[in-house]
Amino acid sequence: MKPVYLDNAATTALDEEVLEEMMRFFKEDYGNASSIHKLGQASREAVDKAREIIAQFLNCSPTEIIFTASATESDNLAILGVKKGHIITTKIEHPAVLNTCSYLEKMGFEIDFCPVSKEGIVDVEEIKKKVKENTVLVSVMYANNEIGTTQPIAELGEFLKDKEIYFHTDAVQAVNFLDCDVKKLNVDLMTLSAHKIYGPKGIGALYVKKGVKLSPIMFGGHHENGLRPGTENVPYIVGFGKAIELVGRFKKDIPFIQKLRDKLIDGILDKIPDSKLNGSREKRLPNNVNVSFKGAEGESIVIALDQKGIASSTGSACSSGSLEPSHVLLALGGEGHGSLRLTLGRKNTEKEIDKVLKVLPKAVKDLRKVSGYL
Ligand code: PLP
Repeated sequence: MKPVYLDNAATTALDEEVLEEMMRFFKEDYGNASSIHKLGQASREAVDKAREIIAQFLNCSPTEIIFTASATESDNLAILGVKKGHIITTKIEHPAVLNTCSYLEKMGFEIDFCPVSKEGIVDVEEIKKKVKENTVLVSVMYANNEIGTTQPIAELGEFLKDKEIYFHTDAVQAVNFLDCDVKKLNVDLMTLSAHKIYGPKGIGALYVKKGVKLSPIMFGGHHENGLRPGTENVPYIVGFGKAIELVGRFKKDIPFIQKLRDKLIDGILDKIPDSKLNGSREKRLPNNVNVSFKGAEGESIVIALDQKGIASSTGSACSSGSLEPSHVLLALGGEGHGSLRLTLGRKNTEKEIDKVLKVLPKAVKDLRKVSGYL
């Protein structure tokens, strides 16, 4: 039986149309995009086309798009590539940002990890207060990967636009649902990943605004404007471009996804006593449900659901599999344990949500009996 897949924040299924476009560049046009011959030129054209599609989506110039091997790499390049100095970020960033900033902190640079509200929203005033003479970068994610809360990026961009401080946003979770126009948001650097938008894993991009002074963090050839050496991964870049193109086509499905999300949230809170939604309900991605249950651990619920054919998660893909408390839930003032994340995607149906609402209350009840809560 096909599993009910509710882990779309961890990764999405590769779209058939994306795979189809990619195949040509594995099988036929396999040339190196730097080669002069026809095979090479076919690859170069495909890379240019993908770059253009992504640039159009972000409302920027193709020369401002740098392909990388992942969003993790894009975050690293954005943070380590700017001139070193004071950095402001938040406590709820993805580990790709948090751990890169912590590394710089260990190296002796000053980093402010700003708190967030109980609802999981970054406080713009708090960030404004932290700005100092030697601040070089502010890095705030567009939407949180664990609890789906959306952050005031446009407001921060407006404040920072006339200052000599670069503004980076990790927009990985936002691309499917939010406006990523870099001009409207006034961002200097934006991280993207293909595998969260029905593209292949292992390909990312960084928007680098013209004029931003960035140094490479790896050394080799002159690819990607001298910022990211290494032969271009043509099939994956092509897949990334197609995936971005499809984001536009699926925009019309967002209200349905949100309807299913609301049915899930209301159903869970209604059917399961002592359950709580983590993060703001209003400022939230249309596909994210993150709930805690007193007396039942998130990890055990994930296993119980898996046995019934439902794929879910406890939070970020990186922390699942470990029993470490979630840094995001801790930042909200919770205990950090026991949360279940259900993230919807393009293919989910109302019938699947009905199944979850039938299976989950019993799973939680059974686990509560085992834990002695009931
Ligand atoms: N940033 C955010 C917000 C994410 O959700 C993820 C993936 O979980 C990443 C960065 C890392 O993406 P990638 O798997 O492409 O390195």
